Amino acid sequence: MLNKLQLSTIDWKKIKGLIPVIIQSHASGEVLMHGYMNKLALKTTIQKKIVTFFSRTKQRLWTKGETSGNFLKVIDIFSDCDNDTLLIKVFPIGKTCHFLKNSCFNLQITDNSFLFYFEKMLEEKKKSNSINSYTSNLFSKGVKRIAQKVGEEAVEVILAAMVKNNNKELIDETTDLFYHLLVLLHSKNISFREIICNLKKRSCI
Ligand code: AMP
Ligand code: ZN
Ligand code: ZN
Ligand code: ZN
Repeated sequence: MLNKLQLSTIDWKKIKGLIPVIIQSHASGEVLMHGYMNKLALKTTIQKKIVTFFSRTKQRLWTKGETSGNFLKVIDIFSDCDNDTLLIKVFPIGKTCHFLKNSCFNLQITDNSFLFYFEKMLEEKKKSNSINSYTSNLFSKGVKRIAQKVGEEAVEVILAAMVKNNNKELIDETTDLFYHLLVLLHSKNISFREIICNLKKRSCI
């Protein structure tokens, strides 16, 4: 969280009373929107843990979601190196953009956030029980069958790796393996994020 020291070092005069704020999804890492805060908006944001901007159009405090209900719950606030820009990590309720998109920047899903959306898709497929969906069918067959598929795909990865000059096959089989692994994790209620955290702990970065 932004500590009191950093807050007091914001030079409001230099930035003419308004600090630019970048809003990022805590879970997916996507940049969702951008706005400005005056001192009171920032105080309100910190106190309520809900993002409140100073709207230049409305010329008043604007709690994002005040009419739509699509609030931005504050997870963490960071200031940049010279304390004239803020980055706020949020848990967004609903769609952040008023054009009903997750992000105002209309980004293609980036590599980083893709897995997050993939996991959401898995959740929907698990719930839907649709007979036409391979993923739904896989979930309904249960952990044993899914784990077996992971084993099969792992062997296919090994075999593909042995073939010289055919990375296409290796890429395809690795994709199959990743997919089935994610389904397996999901069926055991493990988020891929836990694996990434573990990886981070083990590496020196
Ligand atoms: P909301 O704050 O979501 O209740 O939306 C209230 C009004 O604020 C909308 O009608 C828009 O005019 C504006 N607005 C909402 N979300 C955004 C956004 N992400 N970027 C710019 N303007 C927005
Ligand atoms: Zn700066
Ligand atoms: Zn927008
Ligand atoms: Zn395969």
